[in-house]
Amino acid sequence: MEKHDLIIIGAGPAGLTAALYAGRSRLNTLLIEKMVLGGRILMSETIENYPGFPGGIPTQDLIGRMEAQVKELEVEIINDQVLGIDCIKKTIELSAGVFRQAESLIVASGACPRKLNIPGEDKFTGRGVSYCATCDGPFFKNKKIAIVGGGNAVAEEAMYLSRFAAEVNIIHRRKDLRASAILQERLQENKKINFILDSIVTEIKGEEKVSAVVIKDVLKGNSCEFNCDGVFIYIGYEPETAFLKGKLQMDDSGFIITDENMLTSSSGIFACGDCRKKGLYQVVNACGDGAVAADSAYKYIANKEK
Ligand code: NAP
Repeated sequence: MEKHDLIIIGAGPAGLTAALYAGRSRLNTLLIEKMVLGGRILMSETIENYPGFPGGIPTQDLIGRMEAQVKELEVEIINDQVLGIDCIKKTIELSAGVFRQAESLIVASGACPRKLNIPGEDKFTGRGVSYCATCDGPFFKNKKIAIVGGGNAVAEEAMYLSRFAAEVNIIHRRKDLRASAILQERLQENKKINFILDSIVTEIKGEEKVSAVVIKDVLKGNSCEFNCDGVFIYIGYEPETAFLKGKLQMDDSGFIITDENMLTSSSGIFACGDCRKKGLYQVVNACGDGAVAADSAYKYIANKEK
């Protein structure tokens, strides 16, 4: 079995930063990503609040820079899925039935979009239902779109979709959005964006493609059909931690509990980025988490060797 100093699971901003710090510490590091380097942040077109880039930076560019920086170092990067880990032996099982082992592990497995779990959602995914405006927005030129949620993601993606669509209708279950003030101001100024508040989507309808959603007014209790060509869902994220269930301490939603050094409940295993429980989920602190996790892993390995 191949053995490394450090294995990092997931190559979003947290995992890439951990790999950068580990590589610079000359740890023999393996970075594993099951999809593409960059992770779910690539679903956003631009990052506006990463320091140092006034006016924002295209997400592809930012991730491309992080990737290039890691590739300057001797970090092995593979595309594979981790099926399970042994916390004591620090082995991981990859999809090909292959095992790898390390002195220390960093979990940076990120999060995936939360589903509404309503009739029609699965049936029409890819046929009008989407979780990625950057990927699918251009298909909705001059169309009528419903977008569900009330956070920063909804605000940013509604703005993006308004470049293509004739109409973007934000459906939110409360009166107040939780998106940051600057984003809410932009939404209010955008003539293509409408709000359907105190309302939830209870069903997605259509024949071959989406043609309507059923909207329920949560205050009055009545429902109505709302015609639209697409439904974008931005109701938060769920941590990608199922493969660690029962191995590491997590909260009820599956977010990994760590201390301030990113140490999990298992010695020598660290977690960083969106898969861990914390108060703010941003690229900037995902990177901060990654740096701390790599530093903690380095110290753990150095102490073991003494
Ligand atoms: P979020 O901030 O957790 O907001 C999710 C929204 O979906 C909330 O408004 C919530 O309503 C609503 N919601 C949740 N479950 C629902 C359900 N079952 N039915 C209907 N509505 C539901 O998630 P997000 O906007 O996807 O963002 C995720 C994280 O990434 C956040 O920490 C966010 O700040 C961060 N982010 C930051 C930026 C940025 O800084 N530029 C951009 C994108 C994302 P309630 O408000 O009623 O709870």
